[in-house]
Amino acid sequence: MGKIQMTTPLVEMDGDEMTRVLWQIIKDELLLPFIDLKTEYYDLSLVKREETKDQITIDSANAALKYGVAVKCATITPNAQRVEEYNLSQMWKSPNGTIRAIMDGTVFRAPILVRGIEPYVRTWKKPITIARHAYGDVYKNTEMKCFEKGTAKIVFTSEKGETRESEIFTFTEDEGGVIQGMHNRCNSIKSFARSCMNYALDTKQDLWFATKDTISKQYDHTFKDIFAEVFETEYKEKFEAAGITYFYTLIDDVVARVIRSEGGYIWACKNYDGDVMSDMLATAFGSLAMMTSVLVNPDGKYEYEAAHGTVTRHYYKHLQGEETSTNSVATIFAWTGALNKRGELDGNADLQKFAKALEKATIDTIEEGYMTKDLALITTIPKEEIHQVNSRGFILEIRKRLEALL
Ligand code: NAP
Ligand code: MG
Repeated sequence: MGKIQMTTPLVEMDGDEMTRVLWQIIKDELLLPFIDLKTEYYDLSLVKREETKDQITIDSANAALKYGVAVKCATITPNAQRVEEYNLSQMWKSPNGTIRAIMDGTVFRAPILVRGIEPYVRTWKKPITIARHAYGDVYKNTEMKCFEKGTAKIVFTSEKGETRESEIFTFTEDEGGVIQGMHNRCNSIKSFARSCMNYALDTKQDLWFATKDTISKQYDHTFKDIFAEVFETEYKEKFEAAGITYFYTLIDDVVARVIRSEGGYIWACKNYDGDVMSDMLATAFGSLAMMTSVLVNPDGKYEYEAAHGTVTRHYYKHLQGEETSTNSVATIFAWTGALNKRGELDGNADLQKFAKALEKATIDTIEEGYMTKDLALITTIPKEEIHQVNSRGFILEIRKRLEALL
């Protein structure tokens, strides 16, 4: 049988450490034997980023905008220790941050559900997708310690020179206190709303959004109002036609509803809520290694990746010739997500069918008891039915099942 052909290339963003090792095995064993894989390759390894003064990251993000679909391997975000380890001329910024800024996207994270890895919440039957607004709020704040008596104010000076101010607090005790100022941009909130609504239509899931607008009558209420306006003017009819709903409530109410729900919707979160809640959901669904992530921009450009990092600890073992049992599921699903989207945009049904088959082969492999160590530790499958496999062994088990399916 001939290989599946592609018309438009995928933007391929290679990465670092253990995930880079997995990346190559996935390509060699699960993709190249079956697809005439067309990619525009960008090496985002830290070595290459240093060599190109990080230009490669910018180029890859622009390529993602040009072609519309990218798949990314996990990458090192340098800290002081990495600067030393890699002899860097600069502490390069997080590639994900750079790509997010260029694509102006929203990150959607969803768990991959398999039988045998059960969510801690009994009622959850379907994935819950978190959409995190990755701009502003406390992540771009200005704060100050004011450990003395005095008055703190918030001041806005318009371009015309008009000034508005209001008091935050008057500290009357010697110890004083702390203050904080944050912002968000109406355009960023609008983009966030559109990304969420497009993704809801795309995946045919209801959209939930929540803030604390009863307490934050200006700040959070603006988020609520912008979402309502974007929905009413641009999406209401499309949602009706697709049979999905948009639902707004308070953040504390939504948390209670999420726990009672059976899943199967998108939960849009302000930046901080998304940061905290996505870690809670990943753990509650079973494992960070089973969490996919996709960056979607308001014009419908996509970048798929795993939610976890480069799994450094396993990589050092690998370098010492020790066996590793690193879970490649989220990275495989980054590829299938990208291939499926490419197929959808190009009208390439064979490519979409292949992506679905690879997902099924991966899930079947785990459900038949073949899994990496992280899953073997938490599975409900009886011990005597589990075959704990190493990093390559797991991918080879998937390949067997994929060949049978194709
Ligand atoms: P990490 O790579 O996600 O790994 C943390 C720990 O979680 C691992 O040591 C491992 O636990 C477990 N784990 C994560 N993914 C796994 C997998 N696929 N299979 C099995 N176990 C898995 O996070 P990190 O160690 O904090 O960060 C390492 C590097 O990744 C850093 O340089 C960071 O900058 C980067 N990072 C990149 C991204 C990204 O590109 N999107 C995201 C986060 C972090 P055990 O050691 O207990 O087995
Ligand atoms: Mg977090």
